[in-house]
Amino acid sequence: MLRVPQVHVARPRFPVIDFHTHLTWGPFLDSGESITVLAEAPEILSTMDAKNVRVMVNLTGGFGEGLLDSLRVHTEANPDRFVVFTEPWWSRVAEPNYARFQADEMERAHQAGAAGLKVLKALGLYLRENVTTGPLIKVDDKRFDPMWEAAGALKMPVVIHVSDPRAFFLPIDRFNERYEELQAHPEWSFCRGDFPNNRELQEARREVMARHPRTQFVCAHVADSEDLSYVSECLNSHPNMHVDISARIAELGRQPRTARRFFDKYQDRILFGTDAIPKGLLDIPYQTLSKELYDIYYRFLETEDEYFDYAPAPTPPQGRWRIYGIGLPEDILRKVYWENAARLLGLDRTDFE
Ligand SMILES: [Zn+2]
Repeated sequence: MLRVPQVHVARPRFPVIDFHTHLTWGPFLDSGESITVLAEAPEILSTMDAKNVRVMVNLTGGFGEGLLDSLRVHTEANPDRFVVFTEPWWSRVAEPNYARFQADEMERAHQAGAAGLKVLKALGLYLRENVTTGPLIKVDDKRFDPMWEAAGALKMPVVIHVSDPRAFFLPIDRFNERYEELQAHPEWSFCRGDFPNNRELQEARREVMARHPRTQFVCAHVADSEDLSYVSECLNSHPNMHVDISARIAELGRQPRTARRFFDKYQDRILFGTDAIPKGLLDIPYQTLSKELYDIYYRFLETEDEYFDYAPAPTPPQGRWRIYGIGLPEDILRKVYWENAARLLGLDRTDFE
């Protein structure tokens, strides 16, 4: 049995902005505007205070009436602790005036207090010409151009998730490295059906970033955490691209030397995020909002500990491997923990210094 030093990082070196959380859940492709509140502010704040998470960004704030509810439940009493993003109104995508409507919705969401736009992997993998039926709508479909432009004009960063780990596009068999995860969640598999492959989805997102250079994009989950050389190529060609590390320390931590060089090179464009969801919605250990979850992220970023669990779970939930810390220096930690995010969100630096 391996015996190596174990460092417990109970508090991060700097205050943290968690750029990727889900505190409410919206309608996805359904019509209607209502949202589900997964946890109220007071119960989240105790975890945030214990782990020095100064600000949480709730990406799935919904739209229309739902967005107003999201803002009310989290930001009203705590305007300096929560930030809410809006989402596209997918259920109206087949309407003839959708392009204009969605761009105008961005304006309304901004007025209401939304700080950015979140695009789930619905775009590219679920959303179809007749919303749930017909051909899949491509990520770079031109009808979204006014929406991306409006986001840029309103200085609302766009967090966009496309594609998924390669294992989700492969048969669920004994050769699949995420066999157990896919057994538990067969609905996450895009192996059968008319789905584009990972590279096609990634390239379509690049097309969007290239077409809208004034809009700031944050590619969720390190864009493509299994291929950092491809991500580097993307970052090199798109100055308006950033990445968050949410739900992907399992990938970054099994390539610690490559990951460390990646953080060095792109230290101004990497954002801290966890993809945390309050208990109850889904039983996903690497996403369940808890103090233990933050401890693991801090350990990964701050220590050079070896071969430790990437999630607080008896069995590694994203594949049977363990990870290595990358021991980032202070100047990079500061940028990743809060500085890059504060810049993108236009937050007052003095709240963090
Ligand atoms: Zn997420």
